[in-house]
Amino acid sequence: MPAEIDVAIIGAGVIGLATAHEITQGGKEVFVFEKNSTFGLETSSRNSEVIHAGIYYPEDSLKAKLCVEGKNLLYSFCDKHNIAYNKCGKIIVAADENEITQLEKLCDQGRRNGVDDLVLLARTELKKLEPNIQARAGLLSPSSGIFDSHNLLKFLYSQAREKGTEFVFDAAVIGIERAGAKYKVRIKDRDGTSAFIAHIVVNCAGLNSDRIAQLAGIDIVEAGYQLHYCKGEYFSLNSKYRNIVGKLIYPTPDQAGHGIHWRQALDGRVLLGPSAHYVQVIDYAVDETHKQYFYDSAKKFVPFVALEDLAPESAGIRPKLQGPGESFRDFVIAHEEKAGFPSLINLVGIESPGLTAALAIARYVGKMMS
Ligand SMILES: Cc1cc2nc3c(=O)[nH]c(=O)nc-3n(C[C@H](O)[C@H](O)[C@H](O)COP(=O)(O)OP(=O)(O)OC[C@H]3O[C@@H](n4cnc5c(N)ncnc54)[C@H](O)[C@@H]3O)c2cc1C
Repeated sequence: MPAEIDVAIIGAGVIGLATAHEITQGGKEVFVFEKNSTFGLETSSRNSEVIHAGIYYPEDSLKAKLCVEGKNLLYSFCDKHNIAYNKCGKIIVAADENEITQLEKLCDQGRRNGVDDLVLLARTELKKLEPNIQARAGLLSPSSGIFDSHNLLKFLYSQAREKGTEFVFDAAVIGIERAGAKYKVRIKDRDGTSAFIAHIVVNCAGLNSDRIAQLAGIDIVEAGYQLHYCKGEYFSLNSKYRNIVGKLIYPTPDQAGHGIHWRQALDGRVLLGPSAHYVQVIDYAVDETHKQYFYDSAKKFVPFVALEDLAPESAGIRPKLQGPGESFRDFVIAHEEKAGFPSLINLVGIESPGLTAALAIARYVGKMMS
């Protein structure tokens, strides 16, 4: 490890990997520090692997812009590098009049965000597309899909390494101090603690990104960077449910998440989830007692599902900037020069659609650095 490097990226989730892949070139020394033994062991491998269209987010928000841009970049990237995907499309379903009104608003929102292929479906049109789904109406998003996110992570990692990024695993960043216009970064690894100088620090630390910003000296309460953890669990359905439904099926969304949705993964497994409830600690166990809630949520649009066919599957945790009941918060992707921290870039609250938007986020960060 040299005493001085150009760029220190903290975190090897999809955002750190995509950023490294984007910015490593022309002899720039880019190092990625990851506290785990390898890349992608946290939120980036605990999600729905859905390529979102960009419908839900307020116009001109980073979430809307980077989702739409990221979706297009991601499909092209998958084509170019043989990463599997299924552009299966998605239907958001409405159960009653009130939800139909919400769907119409969502449709307008999506169109304003640049999602120009949305189609409102009456009950009969929906039945033609998905005969096994029960709903009063639907909003079809043909550009939504699912993909092999693990292969994306692997590919970004190997490409970034080939270009010259150095990855340091089992190395937790524990201190960031200003050293003139640079930073003294302290890490803790198996051999103890050590420090080096970085010209630029990029904080891609996911669930820890607020604490990393705080380590660097940002007042995270004043900046509004404090994260809330919002857990999402999944239940799987047994194999008899395969190939009954072709598209992703989402309910009309509630506040914290997009709602319990139906998804057939690329390997054929049918999954329900994720739920959304705020938690204090990071714990990925799935609570079996939540089965009834999953069943009740799903049976509104897939009434043929039987309770005994659900089994606990996995869970992920959203790094949310908004607490329970609070209104929309955008991604924070901030060059902290104005706050008195030159060459510090914080990415905080990179929840959904962070996976879809990853390549666009990396471009955005790259432009901030040039
Ligand atoms: C339940 C759920 C479902 C989702 N579904 C979707 C979806 O379908 N589509 C979509 O687009 N998005 C989805 N998302 C969002 C998406 O998964 C995230 O936006 C994305 O994975 C965030 O990536 P990241 O790199 O910021 O975070 P992470 O993958 O968490 O990576 C951060 C890394 O930083 C490391 N780190 C933390 N602290 C330190 C430290 N001090 N030193 C060194 N390393 C450190 C961590 O170990 C970790 O590896 C979902 C999220 C959840 C929770």
